[in-house]
Amino acid sequence: MAGVSVLNLIKSYGPVRVLQDVSFEAQDGEFIALVGPSGCGKSTLLRSIAGLETVDGGTITIGGRVVNDLDPKERDASMVFQNYALYPHMTVRQNMAFSLKLRGGGASEIASRVAEAARILGLDDYLDRYPRQLSGGQRQRVAMGRAIVRKPSVFLFDEPLSNLDAALRVQMRSEIRSLHKRLGVTSIYVTHDQVEAMTMADRIVVMQGGRVEQVGPPLRLYDKPCNTFVATFIGSPAMNLVAGKLRNGQFIMSDGQGIPLPAKITGNSELDTRPVKLGIRPEHIGISSKAVRGSISAMVESCESTGNMTYFNCTVAGATFNVTAPYRLIVERGSLVALTLDAQYLHFFDADSGKQLINEV
Ligand code: ADP
Ligand code: MG
Repeated sequence: MAGVSVLNLIKSYGPVRVLQDVSFEAQDGEFIALVGPSGCGKSTLLRSIAGLETVDGGTITIGGRVVNDLDPKERDASMVFQNYALYPHMTVRQNMAFSLKLRGGGASEIASRVAEAARILGLDDYLDRYPRQLSGGQRQRVAMGRAIVRKPSVFLFDEPLSNLDAALRVQMRSEIRSLHKRLGVTSIYVTHDQVEAMTMADRIVVMQGGRVEQVGPPLRLYDKPCNTFVATFIGSPAMNLVAGKLRNGQFIMSDGQGIPLPAKITGNSELDTRPVKLGIRPEHIGISSKAVRGSISAMVESCESTGNMTYFNCTVAGATFNVTAPYRLIVERGSLVALTLDAQYLHFFDADSGKQLINEV
């Protein structure tokens, strides 16, 4: 087994730099999710680790060995692709055995590795079928089987569940997770789906525009996002961001309406009068049809209930607040409501750079 370390990685396609000084580390046995919007460079990064792309700068280390100049097959990493990449004219058994045969493994060793992988993945009954005779979930399992039989030190997954329907995705999520628990192989898992990343990973690497924005355990990113990008990318519905200023113990919105702040924030004179963005997650706002002390008055633009949860979209002087209430509450569109922002969950970001200003809030 082996850890993976990526240091100052740079990669361009022609004049376009798609990886800009990317660094992160996966400890031995760790499950890392690489998450970010489409086009941010996740696949390029993963393919670079696998050796399917050459890089223009930086170092990739697997198991303490710098692998920049090694062929993919010498890197001891197996990749699972989104489109499964199965050979259509081969049976499940042949698909799983193929890479071992290429490496010149003995027939009995190959047979026993395929049998073991099939057992782990519940594919025993399908070994003689062709990919076209399998469901999407089964094909995905075969793709994982092909990776497992090689007994690599590292698994690299590139959006392996994107082609599956929602229910199957949730099921496969937990299958991959228990497979990881069982085999303990260092895994780097690319997804654009932050829920997938949150539920599967030990730690998440959030990327944007070829850069790493933040690395940390899922709930740490949720509770302490380092900037507005991470704050709004992690969590759904997204964190509310409202522009304004801090002054005299209040957060002043563009229309002059103030939100009282706790002393630990207002005590920081450095922040006074600075243009900031206030951030608060939808579930940290209380909503009431009666005026409440310290609340702000907002108009309800929409109100949708899923039975147990109610999702509000409210406006205050041009700013939007999404509010999630863990109960049913039907409010007419256009009604005025009182919003109470839970002070312990307020975030403040620099208006220009988007960086979190107060880390210990
Ligand atoms: P992601 O997997 O996060 O969606 P990719 O790593 O596939 O992103 O792509 C990152 C950027 O690099 C995108 O702008 C994409 O268009 C570009 N890109 C990817 N592969 C190539 C290629 N072979 N040639 C030129 N540009 C590419
Ligand atoms: Mg991709």
